[in-house]
Amino acid sequence: MPARILDGRALAAELRLGLAERSTVLRARGIIPTLAVVMVGDDAESASYLRRIKRVATDAGVEIVEHLLPADVGESAVRLRLATLGGDPTTHGVLLQQPLPRSLSIRAIADAVPARKDVDGANPANQGRLAFGTGAAFVPATPAAVLLLLERSDKWPLRGREAAVVGRSSVVGLPVTLLLIGHDATVTVLHRSTVELAAHLERAEVVVVAAGKPGLVTGAMLRPGATVIDVGTTLVDGKTVGDVEFASAQEVAAEITPVPGGVGPVTNIALMQNVLTAAERQSASSHAI
Ligand code: ADP
Repeated sequence: MPARILDGRALAAELRLGLAERSTVLRARGIIPTLAVVMVGDDAESASYLRRIKRVATDAGVEIVEHLLPADVGESAVRLRLATLGGDPTTHGVLLQQPLPRSLSIRAIADAVPARKDVDGANPANQGRLAFGTGAAFVPATPAAVLLLLERSDKWPLRGREAAVVGRSSVVGLPVTLLLIGHDATVTVLHRSTVELAAHLERAEVVVVAAGKPGLVTGAMLRPGATVIDVGTTLVDGKTVGDVEFASAQEVAAEITPVPGGVGPVTNIALMQNVLTAAERQSASSHAI
């Protein structure tokens, strides 16, 4: 029997309703949940990402304010803009759009993203909080989406499950690993120096793939009945494809996310959830003063 599709669009549509309710409550108190998106230079992919999240934001009752800085801007100017947004009471979330121009290093700037407004979990302090398992951190949107999908899978709860994560990037693989461990799964992390993917994947009941390599994981590598979450998105001949060879994987897995229509739509919702959480926390703390 082919795998059940874990439908990200359907899940996003369901979660959107909850977002609209939360923003209605905030707006009734005079708070307009607002996300500042800082973009450095014109980047076609970033612009199309912005168009997509604007649509989701409108449905969620979240305001998006763009801050476009010139491509040749220096590190200190970016840090200053982030700090200004940190002090602005009408801004609740701050997202520094990546990739940055080559002249700038995210490692030299990420700590300037105001921690209380860091809705994509970019600040190393929030990454550290995630590693410590302390609840107050913002979980980056893509890893949060992976967990939202797994919550709907037949492997939930994850306690005692064998899980494999392919990829160890600071934006996806590593935070996903921390979240899975936090949910008591036994996690194996595979990366570009792993000699034989299949030898590890054959044990895994839950497989999360975030390597940016189309077709890297095939059905033959999977444990029968596995749940497969494909985070990869690569443009091939104008089409977005994942890291998992869908046709063969679908014959072996019990559940699988499609690309597109899997992790992507849920990621946008997860970002808006973080913006609303930020607005709720900030309004709660300003009332307490
Ligand atoms: P993303 O942002 O989607 O996480 P990155 O390009 O930042 O993607 O990181 C790619 C990750 O995928 C790296 O951690 C790398 O080690 C892993 N990776 C790349 N190629 C392979 C491969 N052939 N097998 C296993 N892991 C791989």
